[in-house]
Amino acid sequence: MRKIQKILVANRGEIAIRVMRTAREMGIKTVAIYSDADSHSPHVRYADEAVNVGPPPSAQSYLMTDKIIQICKDLSVDAVHPGYGFLSENAGFAKTIEENGVLFIGPSVKAIEVMGDKLSAKETVAAYDVPMVPGVNHAVTDPEEARKIAEQVGYPVLIKASAGGGGKGMRVVENPEELEEQMKRAISEALSSFGNGAVFVEKFITSPRHIEIQVLGDKHGNLVYLFERECSIQRRHQKVIEEAPSAILTPEKRKAMGEAALGVARSCDYYSAGTVEFIVDENLDFFFLEMNTRLQVEHPVTEEITGVDLVREQIRIAEGHPLSFKQEDLKIKGHSLEVRVYAEDPTNNFLPDIGYLSTYKRPEGPGIRVDDGFEEGMDIPIYYDPMIAKLIATGKDRAEAIERMVKAIQEYEITGFKTTLNFCEFAIKHEAFTSGKFDTKFVDTYYKPELLQEVNPEHHDLAVVLAALVVEEKSNNNLKAKNNTKTSNWKLRVRD
Ligand code: ADP
Ligand code: ADP
Ligand code: MG
Repeated sequence: MRKIQKILVANRGEIAIRVMRTAREMGIKTVAIYSDADSHSPHVRYADEAVNVGPPPSAQSYLMTDKIIQICKDLSVDAVHPGYGFLSENAGFAKTIEENGVLFIGPSVKAIEVMGDKLSAKETVAAYDVPMVPGVNHAVTDPEEARKIAEQVGYPVLIKASAGGGGKGMRVVENPEELEEQMKRAISEALSSFGNGAVFVEKFITSPRHIEIQVLGDKHGNLVYLFERECSIQRRHQKVIEEAPSAILTPEKRKAMGEAALGVARSCDYYSAGTVEFIVDENLDFFFLEMNTRLQVEHPVTEEITGVDLVREQIRIAEGHPLSFKQEDLKIKGHSLEVRVYAEDPTNNFLPDIGYLSTYKRPEGPGIRVDDGFEEGMDIPIYYDPMIAKLIATGKDRAEAIERMVKAIQEYEITGFKTTLNFCEFAIKHEAFTSGKFDTKFVDTYYKPELLQEVNPEHHDLAVVLAALVVEEKSNNNLKAKNNTKTSNWKLRVRD
């Protein structure tokens, strides 16, 4: 058993602060790293110590393993938490950290390696009685072979990059005529994006839900599951609204999925926090997609319904403690929703809409949690993921969580650029969402940018009132422009 004294968080933004909060609670000192673009970021001030690691591009800063190791040595850091994204699923990084006598707060190098590649994951899991999406679990390069597989599983099929992630590296093929062309493209894309051209073919589930299971394991072989998160509301195969529990799982199905997830975890001797993702079809049959060997963006909804601080557990597990609870001790209490606040324009294909955060007021009240990493008056850097905050609303049941979320979204004031907030309000109020009958095609099926105007009529009226003020504001800005190139933006008070 090793008592951690000082943690370096190899990340930025909300997740860096999230991790440091728990470390501080546990009496552990914290070290932040930051790029030139983040020198004024709250995560830098929150830490006990902070070190600049280089210019804005992440390849020259947040991804610099050698610099991070050197800082660990210089500042007597005894453990590194990678957050999500960046180096969190980089087996080479975890290996180097541990070779230098520093604990990696995450799973073993082997587990990261095996699960980091979708094909090796499928292969490893094969012996553990886990249902798989129909298809193959080896790389396919020959279009003729792909055609045979597609015929067996039936069109449409999905060509997937084995090394893919973040919703990238997937192509849907509707019919045999498109197959060869799409395969060529998939392979060259996989090569250029992930440096690995291996692709495989699986059945494309046409009305799927994405439901994932949170697992925790210790270094003594104990494993538990902390129920599911429903993550079906996505754009570009990326999640934007998550909730726990799912509105559609029965206790029996929950148990079956939980146990399948434990099988996946067992197959790679998993310890720390991890997530097993499943795709679920209309009949509630579920299939293994992949395992994410890290803390997930949407982990707060699980914390809210179980009362478990996942970061605290990760730290204790890294120290060598056995889990302090058993499966029977875990119960679902209430319901929790998360919306991801991205600096993106939902009226323009969710393209990033980065800028100056001229107003920033967070919502408050019972059941409201905001995990964020920016504050009013900051520029949002263009170099990184455009997620600026996560808004989490928890209630005694789903209806109360929805009510609280809608109120909180309306209270949240962000001006300076567009965000996904008004889209999330639209989605959460939609009958398909409130009834629980939705799938990953929600955005394609129900969403049109024009509908955002109707979400919040009072905001729309306000827009008319404010239009007059904008004219005045603009002339003021012109006066100020000599000293200040940043424009304040009234119009964005109405968020569309
Ligand atoms: P989650 O499963 O928690 O929703 P993702 O799997 O989409 O999250 O990835 C978490 C973070 O890491 C996101 O910020 C995403 O942009 C980034 N990310 C993950 N994999 C990749 C990848 N292969 N290329 C680029 N970014 C990635
Ligand atoms: P990533 O590593 O990018 O997260 P995943 O395999 O987890 O890749 O897939 C991301 C998303 O793509 C899923 O949440 C789901 O919406 C969609 N998807 C993946 N596989 C399938 C499939 N076989 N059929 C239909 N949709 C799929
Ligand atoms: Mg995934």
